Amino acid sequence: MIKTVNLQKIFKTEEVETWALNNVNLEIKAGEFVAIMGPSGCGKSTLLNILGLLDNPTGGTYELNGTDVSKFTEAQRTNLRKGVIGFVFQSFNLIDELNVFENIELPLLYMGIPATERKRRVEDAMNRMAIAHRVKHFPQQLSGGQQQRVAIARAVVANPKLILADEPTGNLDSKNGKEVMELLTELNKEGTTIVMVTHSQHDSGYAGRTINLFDGQVVNEIKI
Ligand code: ADP
Repeated sequence: MIKTVNLQKIFKTEEVETWALNNVNLEIKAGEFVAIMGPSGCGKSTLLNILGLLDNPTGGTYELNGTDVSKFTEAQRTNLRKGVIGFVFQSFNLIDELNVFENIELPLLYMGIPATERKRRVEDAMNRMAIAHRVKHFPQQLSGGQQQRVAIARAVVANPKLILADEPTGNLDSKNGKEVMELLTELNKEGTTIVMVTHSQHDSGYAGRTINLFDGQVVNEIKI
C-alpha cells in the first residue's frame, strides 16, 4: 500500500536548511497497524503529512497503491485523498461552529455524496463511536474523549482504506486514551491500514510493528 524510496524533505527558510527526512525507505502493507516513534523533531509529523498527501517530498519517491504520487500537484493530492485517507490528530481539529453531525458529515460533503446517504453514513459512524447522544452538541460542549471520538467518526465516515493518526491520545487521560486505541485496533481488525505517530510506548503496544526515526532516518524496526 505504502512504499517510499529515499524519501527526503528539506525545509528551506532564508539561509537555514532543515533536513527533516533523509532517505526514508519504508514499506507498509495493506492491513498493517504501524507505529512511528522517535524523539521530538526527528521528522515524524513531516513523514505522516507526506504519507497523507498533505505535502510533497523534496526528493525520493512515494508510491501509494502502486502510483508514484511524489510529484502530484496539490489539486491531485486533494482529489486522491478523498475517501481513501482519514486523519486523526492530537488536537482533534474539529470545527467549532459545526455540531457533531456536521463535523462528521464534512468528508462526505466534499465527496458530493447525496443527503440521504450522508445521513445514513454519519448516523452509522456516530453509533460506532458511541457519540450519537451528542449529535447536536458543538465541540466546546464535549469532553476531550468525546471530541476525539467525533474526530475518529469523521475519519472513518468515508470508509477510508488508510487512517493516519498523529499522537491520537496526546491530549487525553489514560481512560479516554485507551478507548481511542481500542477503537483504532477494532478498525484495523476490520481491514483498515493504520499508521500512527506516537510518543507513548503504551500506545505503540497496540501496533503490529514500530518504526523508529532519528534525525530524519529510520534507525530500526521492531515487530511487536
Ligand atoms: P516530529 O514530528 O518528529 O517532532 P517534525 O516532522 O515536526 O518532527 O519536524 C522535523 C524537523 O523539521 C524539525 O527540525 C522541524 O523544526 C522541521 N520542520 C518541520 N516543519 C517545518 C516547516 N514547515 N518549516 C521549517 N522547518 C520545519
